[in-house]
Amino acid sequence: MHNKNPAMQPSHMVEVLRELKTNLAANFSHYEEAPFDRGKWKQLGELGVHGWPIPEKYGGSGWDASHICRGLEVLGEYCEDGGLAFAVAAQMLSCTIPIVKYGSSEQKEKLLPGICSGDIIIANSITEPESGSDVYDMDSRAILDKKGNYHLNGEKIMITSGPIADYHLVYMATDHEKGYFGGITAFLVDNSLDGVNAEVTLSKMGLDTAQMGQQFFNNVCVSEDYILGEVGGGGPIFNKSMEWERGLLGAIHIGTMGRILNQIIKYTKARKVGGQSISKYQSIAHKLSDMKVRYETGKLLLYAASESMDTSDAGMMSSIAKLQVSESLQASCLDALQIMGGRGYLKDSPFERYVRDALSATIYSGTSEVQRSIIARYLGL
Ligand SMILES: Cc1cc2nc3c(=O)[nH]c(=O)nc-3n(C[C@H](O)[C@H](O)[C@H](O)COP(=O)(O)OP(=O)(O)OC[C@H]3O[C@@H](n4cnc5c(N)ncnc54)[C@H](O)[C@@H]3O)c2cc1C
Repeated sequence: MHNKNPAMQPSHMVEVLRELKTNLAANFSHYEEAPFDRGKWKQLGELGVHGWPIPEKYGGSGWDASHICRGLEVLGEYCEDGGLAFAVAAQMLSCTIPIVKYGSSEQKEKLLPGICSGDIIIANSITEPESGSDVYDMDSRAILDKKGNYHLNGEKIMITSGPIADYHLVYMATDHEKGYFGGITAFLVDNSLDGVNAEVTLSKMGLDTAQMGQQFFNNVCVSEDYILGEVGGGGPIFNKSMEWERGLLGAIHIGTMGRILNQIIKYTKARKVGGQSISKYQSIAHKLSDMKVRYETGKLLLYAASESMDTSDAGMMSSIAKLQVSESLQASCLDALQIMGGRGYLKDSPFERYVRDALSATIYSGTSEVQRSIIARYLGL
């Protein structure tokens, strides 16, 4: 960490994270199945969470990737609601950072203070019914008219926070032939514009608090002021946003893995079977050792990915970290459930929820198969 900002010096950071842990432990350590609560989102804004990557002049903290990584790790550890932590991280990495990096000063002034406070929620919309992994082969179109306005038409699905968002960072083809290389444009679309329908909520198996939606854009007319970056520059913007998401979202998983490991170690010491604690059975102890190894190796990979994000090309490290941490999260949640025995399978145990939440981690931000292909590409294969 080489930042000159005094608010980001190591001693200050230790203090900030300590305070964050205390606040999260007091207000976010209890999980309750409930509809999305905007009050909690705003409470996280008051704790400064949404503003971590946002410059101080817009109300944020101006943290670099390494600091965001540490913050998200704490969020994952102390916020028991995995869906809420996921939605917060998804907005931060796939929407807030692109606005900070590529937004015009008008766009920043309009959106960033509200994002910091939690008054504005913004969702990242690229996936379509016919394009997921091959994301740039999209059907949606933004057509330029003679007055210089764009007309947006298309459908987006599986959008995190879509139904509750005030804005969407939407990627559409402005030149289908060019695809990634100059043919995709990013738009910051206000949900209240005529022709935007973002009301459909999709029901899913986990991450319950994170609302997922489907959106329809029916001849939505926007001026060029709505474009994030350059016309045709959406492909590289999305690619970069995925680099941040792959390299940093896993920090909430690492926090979660640390919390689960502590919970399960405690349980195995207390639970007696055959006259001894189950932690004394080698098969159980080895599972715990494996969980610890996954946790520590994942943490090192994430720290390395976030450091490289601050200094150089993080493409390969982000994919390596994403792949390892998401697959480790799933393996460790399944191990924890197995160690809990029948109690882990009960609905009033958190362990079945941890498994349901974890199963999505190898799908979003690019599937594990896609991450392996990216790594192979970096290897020149
Ligand atoms: C919880 C969650 C949150 C999400 N949030 C968002 C969001 O906020 N915004 C958004 O735009 N999208 C979001 N998505 C969508 C997500 O990005 C896509 O689901 C993902 O990119 C995969 O696309 P797909 O579902 O269309 O699968 P497909 O692309 O149809 O893939 C199906 C299978 O084929 C495999 N496959 C595809 N191509 C290849 C290849 N070239 N080589 C090898 N295997 C391949 C895949 O790995 C997968 O196993 C979210 C998804 C989930 C589960």
